[in-house]
Amino acid sequence: MDDSARCNLCGYCVKNCPNDSITISARIPSTELWFIRKPKFEESFLAIIIMGIVFVQNITMLQVWGRGQRGLESLLGTTDPAITFTATFVVAMAIPVLMLFAASWTGSRINGEKTFLNFARFVYALIPLDLAGHLAHNLFHLLAEGGSILITGLALIGSKIPIQSTALVSMSTIELLQFSLLALGGFASAYTAYRIAKFNYRTAGREKSYIPYVILIGILVAFNVYLFLLPMSHRM
Ligand code: SF4
Repeated sequence: MDDSARCNLCGYCVKNCPNDSITISARIPSTELWFIRKPKFEESFLAIIIMGIVFVQNITMLQVWGRGQRGLESLLGTTDPAITFTATFVVAMAIPVLMLFAASWTGSRINGEKTFLNFARFVYALIPLDLAGHLAHNLFHLLAEGGSILITGLALIGSKIPIQSTALVSMSTIELLQFSLLALGGFASAYTAYRIAKFNYRTAGREKSYIPYVILIGILVAFNVYLFLLPMSHRM
């Protein structure tokens, strides 16, 4: 195996190796992204469009989304949600892709490799931030709406308890946890970009090609924080 991208941890290789030479061991999160020798364009493309999907997850839960959706409907001349959502996804996914192309073009000026190779090589660094953005979004569902599990469970057995809110913790605590997750994901992504450059380029000048990606990661973190600061519209 070149990498563990397709391993689902079933454990058969460990159980079946006659020499007991395969083990599963813990490692620092994101280490597997630092040493990829043959980056795959299809994987890297998926990693960047996931960032756009995370944006759509957040944007469609905001109070401003209703206004935006009506504007989109009048622009496209249809109220069909399949069309308006498709257009929203296409735009939201295209923006991070274009930003990454700009960073890759800048990186290619520094390390002398092709823009597409830079794109495929460095986008793996965005995976920790993808994950952090997705977790931060769903943390809201878990902690602001988690009490509904209890209410629904009790309703199933015919019991009712007077609960004013489904929130398990205060909104300020949720925001703090969301921002902490984004900071952690942003740091892991920036450090991964640095390690990818260090692994692939041996001279100090070429190693600096991680800088455009760190700037891009900073912009994506800031945009995520901005979205989390906007008023949400509860869908319960
Ligand atoms: S057999 Fe081993 S390498 Fe293959 S999926 Fe299972 S745990 Fe991963």
